[in-house]
Amino acid sequence: MKIITILVPCYNEEEVIDIFYDEVIKVINSIDYRFELLFINDGSKDRTLAKITSLRLRDSRVAYVDLSRNYGKEIAMAAGLDYASGDAVIIMDVDLQDPPRLIPVMIKEWEAGYDDVYAKRSSRKGESFMKKFTAHCFYRLLGKLAKVEIQEDTGDFRLLNRQAVDALKQFKETGRYTKGLFSLIGFNKKEILFDRDERAAGKTKWNYCKLMGLAIEGITTFTIMPLRIATFIGSITGIGAFIYMIYIVIRTLIIGIELPGYASLISIMLFIGSIQLVSIGVLGEYVGRIFNETKNRPLYFINKYESTKV
Ligand code: UDP
Ligand code: MG
Repeated sequence: MKIITILVPCYNEEEVIDIFYDEVIKVINSIDYRFELLFINDGSKDRTLAKITSLRLRDSRVAYVDLSRNYGKEIAMAAGLDYASGDAVIIMDVDLQDPPRLIPVMIKEWEAGYDDVYAKRSSRKGESFMKKFTAHCFYRLLGKLAKVEIQEDTGDFRLLNRQAVDALKQFKETGRYTKGLFSLIGFNKKEILFDRDERAAGKTKWNYCKLMGLAIEGITTFTIMPLRIATFIGSITGIGAFIYMIYIVIRTLIIGIELPGYASLISIMLFIGSIQLVSIGVLGEYVGRIFNETKNRPLYFINKYESTKV
């Protein structure tokens, strides 16, 4: 019988793990597959690991990977994919924002031959207007800049078959933007729509700073467009400066030297200066990324892995 792994990254989720387990169990008990519930403890500082191990005592389908520290969800997912043993893997958040009722729907599409069944949010409850708006702008921007199509309003909640999982495992990059990787691997994709619920309990681990970081990560690992834009702006201002220079030289030859011009001088200097600084910053983002990747460090370390007992 085929095995389906449910991959759940958890960071400080003691309040919600039991609720998650109860809800998921209700759904998977009525499905005719073997399941593996693979929890990734991403260096939680609360009793998350204890909760997971006590679940494992009750239910032989529970497996877990205990990471050596908090690495962030992207790395936690990568670790999960490495340890998942199923023929298909369903990645889910533990806070029940990814409703378990979609599991059977995803499995149906998988049986119908799709390799990557992803859930797209048709609404997001309990998220501020600002978060929705910034998320929307970001997806638009990335969609425009990057050459691969990145599904808007799609989280990491999806079913991947073995082929897709094995493909993802080959990406060893430390700067990970998993949403982009899902697009990059291609394969036969299927979209299903759902309404995103609020968090069942606990607090979101994201703040605007982290989201901003993820956004920059997403853009700089997927496209060198910012470098092009810097080049483009540099060229345009260069051409402008050249034309202005010719004008100034000719005017000086005809009219002679005219001293006033402090305001225009200072504004041009500041403008050019700021363009240079921004461009160096953009360049630095990429150089930094080259630096990070060339170190070729291992992605994560684990304290312990315990597989399912079946
Ligand atoms: N998560 C993780 N490591 C982190 C932060 C989050 O494994 O450093 C997990 C978290 O436990 C949850 C999922 O990633 O299962 C999504 O996190 P969260 O609900 O905080 O994000 P949001 O839904 O608000 O985007
Ligand atoms: Mg959440």
